[in-house]
Amino acid sequence: MLKQQDKASKPSGNCSKKYLYGPVATVFNSAKTGTWRLSMPVFDQESCTRCGSCAKFCPLDIITVPKDKSKPVTVDLDYCKGCGVCVDVCPKNCIKLESEQRGGE
Ligand code: SF4
Ligand code: SF4
Repeated sequence: MLKQQDKASKPSGNCSKKYLYGPVATVFNSAKTGTWRLSMPVFDQESCTRCGSCAKFCPLDIITVPKDKSKPVTVDLDYCKGCGVCVDVCPKNCIKLESEQRGGE
């Protein structure tokens, strides 16, 4: 049985060209989420030990943990999905997901 992505790239009929159908963003990392993400991670920079676990486990590899403790941990919010993996793996519980619900303000 073909996977969805395989089916999507199969030529149809007698057409010899290959067309790519399917989701708009076929690469998970490439989808910018800044305008529709529902929640975002917020870091307690004081409690953070700069262990690097959040950066290691973030599925998008968008967290930067500087070795210098005077510099903040940062996230590329253009691509963050608000999945919460970083929150779950932080041994110091210093990451929280905060709502980004817009409208009605
Ligand atoms: S919420 Fe998910 S995508 Fe966003 S920084 Fe944390 S692990 Fe990465
Ligand atoms: S997992 Fe927690 S303690 Fe470790 S670098 Fe990330 S925010 Fe800091």
